[in-house]
Amino acid sequence: MAFLEKLRRSDYLIRQHHPHEVGAPILRAANLSVRYENVSALEDVSFELEEGERLAVVGPNGAGKSTLFKVIAGVQNPTEGQVHVYGHEPGGHICIAYVPQRSQVDWSFPVSVADVVMMGRIGKLRLFRQPRRCDWDIVQDALEVVRMQHLAKRQISELSGGQQQRVFIARALAQEAELMLMDEPLSGLDINSKNDIFQIFDKLRQHAVTILVAMHDLQMAAERFDRVMLLNVQLLGLGTPAEVFTSEKLVQAYGGHLRLIHTDEGVLAIEDTCCGEGEEV
Ligand code: ADP
Ligand code: MG
Repeated sequence: MAFLEKLRRSDYLIRQHHPHEVGAPILRAANLSVRYENVSALEDVSFELEEGERLAVVGPNGAGKSTLFKVIAGVQNPTEGQVHVYGHEPGGHICIAYVPQRSQVDWSFPVSVADVVMMGRIGKLRLFRQPRRCDWDIVQDALEVVRMQHLAKRQISELSGGQQQRVFIARALAQEAELMLMDEPLSGLDINSKNDIFQIFDKLRQHAVTILVAMHDLQMAAERFDRVMLLNVQLLGLGTPAEVFTSEKLVQAYGGHLRLIHTDEGVLAIEDTCCGEGEEV
């Protein structure tokens, strides 16, 4: 993707990244626990991610997926444990882009597509400096990557669900994010919009952008991701879909809310019957 190469090489960008610790993994979570009053959302979760990998995070509603993303993004403090991104605490790390669940965003806010994408550059702009021509060029290029350039002036309230997700991906691109946390970006999208998003993910992979995607569709997680994380407050598994989606672990995660279908190859076709996909706005 010429655009990302241009960004990496550009010398006009003001680099405010935390210095990355040499040899540190892009993401390391150590003994993370989060309690909200009397609810335990995460218990003793530890894992590491490699640069450039694409990880699906699955688990029933209330499993702690959104909480995990908020802790990694630095917008929620863990009750115990730590997260390190390239060896540093996440707060202020502008190499992390967090795309919240669609239901948590106020889509009626009167702002254009280009403005939303420019918000990704805010961390890059020198204090008291207005966006420059080159910032708007980067916004335009980011919109081209997600094929939304023709809608740059459109209000975000007037977009479809798939277009809204693409705008948020463009914002993450403009931010030059190295780690993207996407909370249920596929929920409520039709199959064409889902395929569009996966095509963009494939492009990002070529540039070693690491992506975590919370989702409900286990079949899609198994087919389209290198590794999957199965979460239900505790970390039940992290590995290839074959390693993680075993009937034993799935029953641990979903209890009775799951249909397991054994196929000839011994593969499980599986359906999360408790939540469906969706949680639309
Ligand atoms: P998921 O995204 O997997 O559905 P969440 O991280 O949203 O899970 O929620 C995990 C648990 O924490 C749930 O039991 C939820 O009700 C609870 N929870 C989430 N956010 C809050 C909050 N701000 N205050 C109290 N409880 C919360
Ligand atoms: Mg959630």
